[in-house]
Amino acid sequence: MTAVNNLSDIVNNGLCIGCGVCQSIAGEDKIEVMMSPKGRLEPKEINKISPDIFKKIKSICPGTIVEGLPKEVVHEDSKHDQIWGYYLSLNYTWSTNDKIRFQSSTGGLLNGLSIYLLETKKIKFILHTVADPKKPMRSIPKFSYSKEEIVNCESGSRYGPASSLDAFHKALDLNEPFAFVGKPCDISAIRQLSKIDSRVNNLCKYLLTLVCGGIPEFTKSQDFIESFKVKENELSTFRYRGYGNPGKMYIKTKDGREYEQAYNDFWGEESTWRVLFRCKICPDAIGESADIAALDTWKGGSPKGEDEGFNAVITRTKKGLDLINEATKAGYIHVGDKLNIDDINDFQPHQVNKKKAVYARHQGMIKNGSPTIDTNGLRIKELSKLNSKDFNEKEEYGAKSRIKKNNI
Ligand SMILES: Cc1cc2nc3c(=O)[nH]c(=O)nc-3n(C[C@H](O)[C@H](O)[C@H](O)COP(=O)(O)OP(=O)(O)OC[C@H]3O[C@@H](n4cnc5c(N)ncnc54)[C@H](O)[C@@H]3O)c2cc1C
Ligand code: SF4
Ligand code: SF4
Repeated sequence: MTAVNNLSDIVNNGLCIGCGVCQSIAGEDKIEVMMSPKGRLEPKEINKISPDIFKKIKSICPGTIVEGLPKEVVHEDSKHDQIWGYYLSLNYTWSTNDKIRFQSSTGGLLNGLSIYLLETKKIKFILHTVADPKKPMRSIPKFSYSKEEIVNCESGSRYGPASSLDAFHKALDLNEPFAFVGKPCDISAIRQLSKIDSRVNNLCKYLLTLVCGGIPEFTKSQDFIESFKVKENELSTFRYRGYGNPGKMYIKTKDGREYEQAYNDFWGEESTWRVLFRCKICPDAIGESADIAALDTWKGGSPKGEDEGFNAVITRTKKGLDLINEATKAGYIHVGDKLNIDDINDFQPHQVNKKKAVYARHQGMIKNGSPTIDTNGLRIKELSKLNSKDFNEKEEYGAKSRIKKNNI
């Protein structure tokens, strides 16, 4: 199998998600994360990084390694599911603030918890991902210090490339307690970093995530605005969803033109999603190593219309469970009915399928001579053994042919 010997091996083999943690580790004078012509955020080595720094990056990068929930935070009362991993509770939940619930992605659970943590001074700031106010189709990491900052930015689901971790060391350097909200691959990188930088566990107090179907290339968003003959520099707002659940894909130009599209029309057939190859081979898109994971609750996996916004929450650690209980008691979020694993499977059929398929996809890569992601504690091999031979062969073949067509 081809080894990963430098940064471009990660990128060129379709393993990079553009998280930016390599830039955060090496520094902006060494690595720059840039949008590629294909519409992906990719790191470039602009000045040579030392072998020691590359070794460090390789031990953290979600393109090279992803692990499950660290043993030391697995609670004795945890239940365990072969697809969904460790959990302490499963419930419906949403923000009690109608405005936050309405404008957030689903029911405002993540924004509601972020505001609770800020207002009770458990943390000083939230590091999360929002629309760039200057270029609203692009997504950037943001340090938010107050409810006003969270409510007044475009922080609903950003279905496009985002280097959510490129400022992570800047967050650590502030030496203040904070919480991180991001994708499961971001959380994985933070957990890996915590093994070699004690500041991570001392300062990054909470890891909150969303169950993640993947990041489409930026070209998907570009095509959307071009279909209305709008140019990127004319935009004042670019929103993928929210202001309802799911809400509409919505754009507004600086001169006041508005266009929108229904969520299901934007997404359409899965083959049109243009999701990154790294997402197709994602061994943990369900936030196994976070304190909590938030998700949508549409039966069968896609919305049948608009509703008030109902998240499900998977609490994975005692810290996550305590956070949910405390934020509920303080009136920031509402916890609804209990759910069970069958409900979660019903809400997320694409995640169940991916978790079952991923090991065979990795095997397809290996058989092709490509490097793949090291995994630990994610049960993907065990799950693969439960599949039919036909299923695994088809998944292997799919990964191999995507590499052969250089569609990675
Ligand atoms: C790329 C992507 C894929 C998704 N796939 C699924 C899926 O497969 N199944 C499912 O149930 N739901 C999916 N979602 C939606 C997500 O699960 C819901 O938004 C979740 O229920 C949280 O809802 P909320 O109302 O609590 O979020 P909010 O309260 O609106 O908070 C959202 C938080 O996520 C952060 N965020 C938004 N986009 C990004 C990003 N690109 N990178 C890092 N952080 C980000 C924001 O900064 C904010 O802190 C996806 C979202 C994204 C961004
Ligand atoms: S996945 Fe993240 S850490 Fe790895 S190469 Fe890409 S940007 Fe860098
Ligand atoms: S599918 Fe996996 S790799 Fe892709 S954005 Fe989501 S968590 Fe990251």
